[in-house]
Amino acid sequence: MKDVKKVKQEIQQVNEAIFNILNYYTCPPDCHSFCCNVCPVDLTDKEYNKLRRLSCEKTDKSKVVKYRRAYVHQLDKPCPFLGSDELCTAYIIRPVTCHIYPFNMTETLPPLMQIFPCMMGKEIYKDYFEYKIYKIKKNNDIGINQAKAEISEALRGLDERSNSYYLSTDEDDNVKTIVLTFSEIFDFLDYLRFCQNRQ
Ligand code: SF4
Ligand code: SF4
Repeated sequence: MKDVKKVKQEIQQVNEAIFNILNYYTCPPDCHSFCCNVCPVDLTDKEYNKLRRLSCEKTDKSKVVKYRRAYVHQLDKPCPFLGSDELCTAYIIRPVTCHIYPFNMTETLPPLMQIFPCMMGKEIYKDYFEYKIYKIKKNNDIGINQAKAEISEALRGLDERSNSYYLSTDEDDNVKTIVLTFSEIFDFLDYLRFCQNRQ
């Protein structure tokens, strides 16, 4: 079994890779900060204290919930730090959960990264599917035709998934997402860099 320090390091590296992936994308204004309005935001003690120094009043609206084997703080919904201009008033110190959105770590063991099909998530899905095809071709995998068929099927359902995501205001709603292993996150980032260098 991996020790806690190693797991934390691994998660930190994955989060950094996701920050880099997200540099390739932007949130369209017509999303109106859906995630900040409806998604629960989990905070570590450190993140909670930073936000608390910014506003006691806003953090007073948080609650403590169980997450995996530990307890975390959870901000109220809509997030009290969301400004009337739909921008984050705590952007510089926003929690990791916000920073990596629409990626979100699952509660499975080992943990995986799911991607929610919001407007930005949809763009990431499309590139991710391209990456899958690229990888299959590179490995001369004979299953390419089947993979292509599966991917076009997944792309066909993308608008539907995205619509149900935006209609969902209930955190228990099971919006269908795609899920990546940690190593796929690093590979996908390499692929995006490779595409950028090719331009
Ligand atoms: S991350 Fe997704 S849900 Fe959040 S503002 Fe951007 S497009 Fe909208
Ligand atoms: S802290 Fe900022 S980014 Fe995070 S949910 Fe609140 S407003 Fe959105």
